[in-house]
Amino acid sequence: MKVDLKDGVCRSCGGELEITDVDDATMGVECQDCGDAYDVEPDAFGDGCMTYYVEFLANHESEEE
Ligand SMILES: [Zn+2]
Repeated sequence: MKVDLKDGVCRSCGGELEITDVDDATMGVECQDCGDAYDVEPDAFGDGCMTYYVEFLANHESEEE
C-alpha cells in the first residue's frame, strides 16, 4: 500500500513509501526509491491512523480469508 507523498516520505531520501507490514503498535514502511525499511507509528502520516493503518489492517484481513 503506497503512502501519498503529501502524507509522508522516506526519512532517508524523501522518496515514496510503501506500507509492507502492520502490527499493534507500528507500521513497517519501505522506500520505493532507496529501499530503506523501518517502522513508524500508526499515526505517523497525520491521518489519526484512519487512512493507512486501518485500511492496511482491513485489506490484510480480507487477503487472509
Ligand atoms: Zn528512500
